[in-house]
Amino acid sequence: MQRLKFTVIMLILLITPKLSHAASWVNFPTSWDIGQAFAVSITSTAEYTQPVVTWMDRSISLNIEAGGAGKISYGLLGSDVRRVKPGSYKIFFEFIQGGKKYKASGNIYLRAREYPKEELRVSPKMVNPPKKELPRIQKESKLIGTALRTMTTPRKWTTPPQPPLASITLTSNYGKQRIYNGQPRAGHNGADLRAVTGTSVRAPFAGTIVLAGNHYYAGGSLYIDSGNGVITAFFHLSNILVKKGDKVTKGQIVAKSGATGRVTGPHLHYSLILGGQFVDPIPLLSTSITKMLKNGNVQQVN
Ligand SMILES: [Zn+2]
Repeated sequence: MQRLKFTVIMLILLITPKLSHAASWVNFPTSWDIGQAFAVSITSTAEYTQPVVTWMDRSISLNIEAGGAGKISYGLLGSDVRRVKPGSYKIFFEFIQGGKKYKASGNIYLRAREYPKEELRVSPKMVNPPKKELPRIQKESKLIGTALRTMTTPRKWTTPPQPPLASITLTSNYGKQRIYNGQPRAGHNGADLRAVTGTSVRAPFAGTIVLAGNHYYAGGSLYIDSGNGVITAFFHLSNILVKKGDKVTKGQIVAKSGATGRVTGPHLHYSLILGGQFVDPIPLLSTSITKMLKNGNVQQVN
């Protein structure tokens, strides 16, 4: 009897710490190219709430899904080639588990990347807009700023995205430094795809239209929010088939391409914005979040 009691107590002592101990990890790359999208995750053997990743001064609310070690939260982040300089940048993670807030952080070294230069000839008013157009340009820039700060959950983006055109031919790369009529301007904030006017444009991810309109530089413009700070945008459209507030499904035809705004000819401009950072949208077309996370550095939190 004594022996049995002892055995039972020993068993409880052995098992209890294992049952109460949750193990959690964060995953992020230790170095990455400027302008390129990267993946991060939080994963845990136990339930947690309020997962947030903070990168480049933007806090991004993530989802909690089944997967990984039990539960997982996925994030898609990047850096804007027009604003970010090479160097080491801090990334922060946090979540709540068993009534306690857990935090983790690390450094990501952003490597310089050579993006080509390009000389373009456009109408002079598109390089130095007439004074009377300035109020319009300012108003549009405010609307765009608000749209890009959209932060919603749940996650509506799934990788790889639906290619926006039936046939993808790149005519101008993301990151290209552009010289308009001899005057240097900020690098290209998206990819230009070959498309005759009227070509159907499909939503890369499910989401909600956060901005649609005819803008001075970008012409017919459409911004789709897909949750967790993931936004896609299309410019120079001839026709927009949805309006602000509309919900769209992945692959839905949302617009027709065109040649409106500051252009040299018809094409589709495709931008991917992650937590406010414009990144190269093309590499993501042929990869998935799971593949991207395989290159990451895994750090234990608890
Ligand atoms: Zn473009």
